[in-house]
Amino acid sequence: LTDINGLVEEYVRLSYHGLRAKDKSFNSEIKLNLDPMLPKVEIVAGDLGRVILNLVNNAFYAVNEKAKSGIDGFKPEVGISSKKIPSGVEISIKDNGIGIPDSIKDKIFQPFFTTKPTGSGTGLGLSLSYDIVKAHGGELEVDSEKGEGSTFYLRIPFV
Ligand code: ADP
Ligand code: MG
Repeated sequence: LTDINGLVEEYVRLSYHGLRAKDKSFNSEIKLNLDPMLPKVEIVAGDLGRVILNLVNNAFYAVNEKAKSGIDGFKPEVGISSKKIPSGVEISIKDNGIGIPDSIKDKIFQPFFTTKPTGSGTGLGLSLSYDIVKAHGGELEVDSEKGEGSTFYLRIPFV
């Protein structure tokens, strides 16, 4: 049984400091909205942690790309929330970064699909995350607009 909120806090910190270590100019506001009454779910912590880390890494990358493009007054922001839903728990990872163009939305969950330069992305994060989530009977969905940002919804059912 996994304490999702604890995992989120740990992996958000890891991801943020990981990116900052590579890019000193990176910064982002982080908004956590974690339900303290969140029920625990039956999923291996390492598996769920890996999914959360992938999604949060992508979110920070997306806001950093937008920041580097030099848009006036842009404030990078990543928000992670957790809540109970009738079927289980839902974790959403929202960023106001570069967003995903419609033309690639159906490709991002495919293995090795990446728009990142060689060395910064393997294109495996989302496909691996999708496989992990499916193996637990869950769902992974995205809602995104190019230039505006993205929200990934991760749902893990009660067993
Ligand atoms: P990688 O991060 O190694 O590129 P992923 O499987 O994690 O591989 O993501 C695949 C692609 O999906 C990314 O290269 C990017 O084009 C797109 N993507 C994923 N998450 C986001 C996001 N939060 N904002 C914008 N694009 C994203
Ligand atoms: Mg990734």
